[in-house]
Amino acid sequence: MTRYTVGIDVGGTKIAAGLVTGAGELLARHAIPTPRTTAADLLDAMAYAARTVAAGRPFDAVGVGTGGVVDTATGTVTSATDLLPADWASCAVGARLAERLGVPVTVDNDANALAAGELDGTPGGTVLYAAIGTGIGGAVAVDGRLRHGRHHTAGGIGHHPVGTAGTRRCSCGRRGHLEAVASGPAIADAYRAGERDLRVVVAAADAGDGRAAAVIADAAGQLGRVLAGAANLLDPDRVVVGGGVAQLGARLFDPLNAAFTAELMAPIAGLTVEPARLGPDASVLGAAALAGDPSYRRVS
Ligand SMILES: [Zn+2]
Repeated sequence: MTRYTVGIDVGGTKIAAGLVTGAGELLARHAIPTPRTTAADLLDAMAYAARTVAAGRPFDAVGVGTGGVVDTATGTVTSATDLLPADWASCAVGARLAERLGVPVTVDNDANALAAGELDGTPGGTVLYAAIGTGIGGAVAVDGRLRHGRHHTAGGIGHHPVGTAGTRRCSCGRRGHLEAVASGPAIADAYRAGERDLRVVVAAADAGDGRAAAVIADAAGQLGRVLAGAANLLDPDRVVVGGGVAQLGARLFDPLNAAFTAELMAPIAGLTVEPARLGPDASVLGAAALAGDPSYRRVS
């Protein structure tokens, strides 16, 4: 009998659930708005999304990628963004969702889930992954395994100090961090104060607005320098950039790689930053991949 896994991505705007086969094929997808009231409401919505996407087909495991910092040993969120319910930070997501669905649940933060999808089925080695979207998250895999660190913040490249962030605040409350320079809303705001939609900047750049193109290239350059510093530190086999902003293609990756290459130590000079191979469904596929990763503890 076919065994299915449900992958659930919990974002500030929506909960996306996907039904995934053992071969990593996405069969169905369902998204609903994220309740911002209480953790219990959010868990109910996740359970509803999982049952809806499964549509009666049996699933034997659930993987969850959520915003915030996650203690993967217990499946508990230890700190979260203010886009999610206030009691999401400290919520035992794994145990409480397992109780609702009757199957084991694996939980990690959304950047690690994206990286898990990217690594699924590929050989080991050291991989540095950065997800560029509304915020900037990241992940580090060593010997093919995601590493979480002592306090589960490993890979938090969005909070790398870059020193040129002007007065823009990072989501962590500090200033001068990469996320405040190179996330989608940060690029939009650099183009026009108060703007948050990156599509406005891309449309302007496509229409020949040189300043719009320069603003994107500048953010890409900052990202490239930070990734090069991390690459010099880790000597990785691969450096991968995913997330919504990665969909910009050459407009992002050309200046990013130029800045990246310029900062690399000589022995790793051949390394380039590659775009993530999974497209728009990366978050649910990655969440499902967590459930099949033997290095994770399943909570039931
Ligand atoms: Zn920060």
